[in-house]
Amino acid sequence: MSLITTLTRDYLTRSFKPFIFTDNYDSVLDYENLQNLGLYVHIPFCKSICSFCPYCKELYTPEKCNAYIDYLIKEIHMVADGAGQRAESGQKGVGIRKEVTSLYFGGGTPALAHERLSEIIDAVNEHFIVTEGIGVELHPDNVTPEILASLKSAGVTKISIGIQSFQEKFQTILGRKPVNAAALKQVLAENQFETVSNGT
Ligand code: SF4
Repeated sequence: MSLITTLTRDYLTRSFKPFIFTDNYDSVLDYENLQNLGLYVHIPFCKSICSFCPYCKELYTPEKCNAYIDYLIKEIHMVADGAGQRAESGQKGVGIRKEVTSLYFGGGTPALAHERLSEIIDAVNEHFIVTEGIGVELHPDNVTPEILASLKSAGVTKISIGIQSFQEKFQTILGRKPVNAAALKQVLAENQFETVSNGT
């Protein structure tokens, strides 16, 4: 994490506790015995980089994003086939799709790839049965009728909007544009999802 990101987080959280990601699982998952498995897909591209953000992100270009998704889809098939998860296969010992509770797209700004989310969802559906819906994290700029319609037609049922703050003081510190709450509410009322939450 860069110094500026660390200092911004220290100021906003009033804490010097380091922000550390830990991996509590093996890199190889025990698919057969895992209960309540949820799938997470990371789309790391953003139109601009926020100073406070500790997550894995990359400046967006259509070329980089499309190449990433091509490889992501290949990897979904490769990893899931390796774990014996494929619907149509006639081979012995395979052919079972595991039930997973959810599929969630985070980032980054996954809506930058909204036109290709259905391809990723199709790839996941070849190997898994998602029982409780598909979620996407959204930047407030992405809450437009066009993007919401595209997400709905891809099968997305839950959205989480990273407002960060409605207060101008904090928006300035965070380098975020003002959010028009009334306009946001209107667009969301006209394009309804099962769940709408405020995320990070
Ligand atoms: S848009 Fe979100 S993911 Fe991208 S840099 Fe800002 S906070 Fe991080």
